[in-house]
Amino acid sequence: MEKMFLVNVEYDEKKSRIMCKFSNNLEEINKHTFIHSEKFYPSFFINLRKDLTKTLLSDFSKNIIVTEKRKALEIKAKDYETLQKCKKILQLSTNKNILLIEPERQFLIDSDWSYYDTFYLVENKKINKISQSPLTNLNFILKKIINNLDLKISSRINQVTKKIILTNYLKKKITKEITTTQTINYIFENNFYKKGLPQPQESLPYNYENKQKKDKTIKIDITEPIAYLLTKENNIGYESLNCQCCKPRNIHDKNVLSNSLINVSFLKDGYYYISKDYFWSKEYHIKNKEKEKRESYKKQNSLTSYPVGPFYRKDSKKILLIDALRLKEDKEIEIQENHEYRWFCKKEKAFVSEIIKDILNLKQVVEKSINLTTSLNYSNNSLGQVKKLEKNTLFYLYHSEKNLYTHLLKETISFIQNKNTKFYKQEVDLAIKSIKQKTCDQISQEECRFSIRKETIRTKDRTLLEKINNYFPKINIPVPEISF
Ligand SMILES: [Zn+2]
Repeated sequence: MEKMFLVNVEYDEKKSRIMCKFSNNLEEINKHTFIHSEKFYPSFFINLRKDLTKTLLSDFSKNIIVTEKRKALEIKAKDYETLQKCKKILQLSTNKNILLIEPERQFLIDSDWSYYDTFYLVENKKINKISQSPLTNLNFILKKIINNLDLKISSRINQVTKKIILTNYLKKKITKEITTTQTINYIFENNFYKKGLPQPQESLPYNYENKQKKDKTIKIDITEPIAYLLTKENNIGYESLNCQCCKPRNIHDKNVLSNSLINVSFLKDGYYYISKDYFWSKEYHIKNKEKEKRESYKKQNSLTSYPVGPFYRKDSKKILLIDALRLKEDKEIEIQENHEYRWFCKKEKAFVSEIIKDILNLKQVVEKSINLTTSLNYSNNSLGQVKKLEKNTLFYLYHSEKNLYTHLLKETISFIQNKNTKFYKQEVDLAIKSIKQKTCDQISQEECRFSIRKETIRTKDRTLLEKINNYFPKINIPVPEISF
């Protein structure tokens, strides 16, 4: 049996087929030795009624298939050109944004293949993919390519590593520089297609605030702990929120999110409270009457945010779970029935959760390799050994990989919360915020504010730092990184 690598994928529009080119020689990766071709019909997903869709696309009825899937309607066409026309018609007539990716990438996603995956040629010209962890496979390829090309310059190693890893991971040939936002866009496109999810329609133009404070505050980067919380303790994603299968039965269920609205009754007259959620209290203020009373209460007590209230004995109101739990403890309220729960699925893992978990794992593996390389090279402890380490291409390779994963992790989490990406969904954004808020509350009840959009805590208080360093290991999560 011969071992081969997938080096190229092409779509043949006229014959409605995909051609995969394989090579058995990594030194000449552009020369293929075997071609596999098969029929392929591309598709996209949309949230629309089937009869309406069929009417709108009646001109193409002979060349398309419209199928109702679990999460949306699938439009499959004989060829990509027809599919593009269908997309245009539906987009113009419904005003919906539709996600349509190239046939090559669709094919790779459907068949769970990617560039540089390893295959065996078996009898009758059939091919079998060798299943092994993607990192083992890539590492083998990277080492070969880097040795063969005799790349001694660290910046070149960095570039080549990034291109090869991303080409494999994104199932798309990366030939020039690519930004992290583009990278994440591809990752999300692939997963929306794989899961058959239509593109969300909530994207908003939004301006990034980029105020850099330069004072003596300590900046704590909590990207990694948050990543663990989103995937390990919770299951946050587009398809995992408020599912039909895991509706909570009471407020203490493990999958209840702290932005659930809890029906409570108040026990005192003229009562106000300060919500843990600044944005929620601001919205409450705008939407509810007795504005003047809150304004004067805020002024009298020199508060930085609007209080919630005033409430009177036996008043019923739905308030945030995070606030309700504290007010219950302080005996200020009683918890009633009929809550508006927000929750996550306990059965099916969301793809965002999977992506984050994968990157965390890849990062851990490469960190181990770095530790190993470093300790082997430093064991002799002479200057010559340090120099040797600096010339060690593997060392650069591992560092390039680690930087790539660290960056991807950080950007993925901020990407989901960014209102001007095409995948923005408020429900997901609010779920993440509620997890940050809950964590913040558990670290310190008094003073701990997470920057809402970025995964950083700023503080001048060193005892808070101590609290943070104690908190995360207690729930089995690594201590966050600190930068001054
Ligand atoms: Zn569920």
